[in-house]
Amino acid sequence: MVQTLRHYIDGQAIEGESGRYGDVFNPASGELRARVPLASPHEVARTVEAARAAFDDWRDTPPLQRARVLFRFKALLDRHLDELAELVSVEHGKVLSDARGSVIRGIEVVEFACGAPHLLKGDFSENVGTQVDSHSMRQPLGVCVGITPFNFPAMVPMWMFPLAIACGNTFILKSSEKVPSTALRLAQLLSEAGLPDGVMNVLNGDRETVDALLTHAEVAAVSFVGSTPVAERVYQTASSHGKRVQALGGAKNHMVVMPDADMDQAADALIGAAYGSAGERCMAISVAVTVGDTTADALIKRLVPRLRELKVGPGSDPEAEMGPLVTAEHRKRVRDYVDLGVQEGAELLVDGRNLTIPGHDNGYFLGGCLFDRVSPAMRIYQEEIFGPVLCVVRVADFAAALRLVNAHELGNGTAIFTRDGDTARTYAARVQVGMVGINVPIPVPMAFHSFGGWKRSLFGDVHVHGMEGIRFYTRLKTITTRWPEGIRAGADFHMPTM
Ligand code: NAD
Repeated sequence: MVQTLRHYIDGQAIEGESGRYGDVFNPASGELRARVPLASPHEVARTVEAARAAFDDWRDTPPLQRARVLFRFKALLDRHLDELAELVSVEHGKVLSDARGSVIRGIEVVEFACGAPHLLKGDFSENVGTQVDSHSMRQPLGVCVGITPFNFPAMVPMWMFPLAIACGNTFILKSSEKVPSTALRLAQLLSEAGLPDGVMNVLNGDRETVDALLTHAEVAAVSFVGSTPVAERVYQTASSHGKRVQALGGAKNHMVVMPDADMDQAADALIGAAYGSAGERCMAISVAVTVGDTTADALIKRLVPRLRELKVGPGSDPEAEMGPLVTAEHRKRVRDYVDLGVQEGAELLVDGRNLTIPGHDNGYFLGGCLFDRVSPAMRIYQEEIFGPVLCVVRVADFAAALRLVNAHELGNGTAIFTRDGDTARTYAARVQVGMVGINVPIPVPMAFHSFGGWKRSLFGDVHVHGMEGIRFYTRLKTITTRWPEGIRAGADFHMPTM
């Protein structure tokens, strides 16, 4: 029996009314798992109204009480960690240990949000003028919306809603229709933790649903994570409707390998960062920039056998290092890019296109692929592939490596492998990318720092979680106070100066 999923609105699981549904598959078997309702503009309006109504009380709930709900939520997340990781793995396809890690990275944001009473403290200055005091405070915005991608069904939503809620907003999550079950379970757990109805809502849907959310007058802010073309469109639409927007887009992350790097470490780092989660990570490394041919040859000598041995299998197999791609359509897209790379003249050193997994013939598996001698003019270099495909670009020196990375239109993450402090420091200072790793292949900032790329990897100004997240989900108000004893007689007609 294929399950029909629901929305989660105002503390209730609600059946979809639009008559439109999307299909949710198990990528390891190709079986249809569930049908997900796609919300209509009318259902969007009802959800926004529920979230708006819940805002009146929630904004006045002391931050300490809001934090206590999140403390209970965190305890429930720990208790249900295995269940959540299984949901992530069965709908996305990533291996269970990786799914578990991604849920934990989400829980860390909840832990950070539990500090709300401290994080929301304002400033106070005594005597900014004679007997005049000033203080500032951060206030919630109202109804906030999150729109999330398929690749992190738990973690990316948890970059957003724990902080939005901790700050006193109410939230509507439009999670990816390819992997909808985890978000619904998270919303149930929040209710179990004591979150009042309507503060957190999960609305399933597609572009039509998103458009209704972006243009609704009562939506105050939109957080988006997904591909660059959609991020740009969401940013333009929502900001032209007066909303605060942070829209995180796609990536093409380069790892520069200097001749002095430890080649075994660099090869291990590349294998994990390029092929983990089948390359479906916005912080995956998809380009290895080798400085000097000797470096390229030494690295490739290590990568090729390691990639041929890569254990590909269903996410539930504890031996598997890499699972299937998320949908048949996405696998076709990635495979087409590999065909294109061959046509463009890159050298395909490892070809994973014909991989089959016995017993999982209908799963969306693709083996790891490795291209050498990729040039910046090729589309496989310029475009985000979002699959298990690593491109090696050979450059002559460090300056050429830096120029290459800076010329790419995307700037989410990058890494450099070197033992030289000067080179590493110059790279970190000069590179036009939002998140940089020095001998760290996937430099994802922790929950108490902030996550975000540069250039066409982020539209808007503010990164997610950490203090940037608190700033995004609050508005600053500054109050200047004087009491009768400090008031001088008579009207003032000039700017008061000290
Ligand atoms: P996507 O852009 O196709 O979809 C993201 C969300 O937008 C989904 O909820 C989807 O329903 C909705 N959507 C899709 N098309 C839309 C449209 N035309 N108008 C309005 N809404 C639309 O992305 P995806 O395939 O789910 O996820 C993969 C992408 O996300 C990759 O490009 C990856 O790099 C990116 N990503 C970026 C980050 C980051 O932090 N920068 C993190 C994770 C994923």
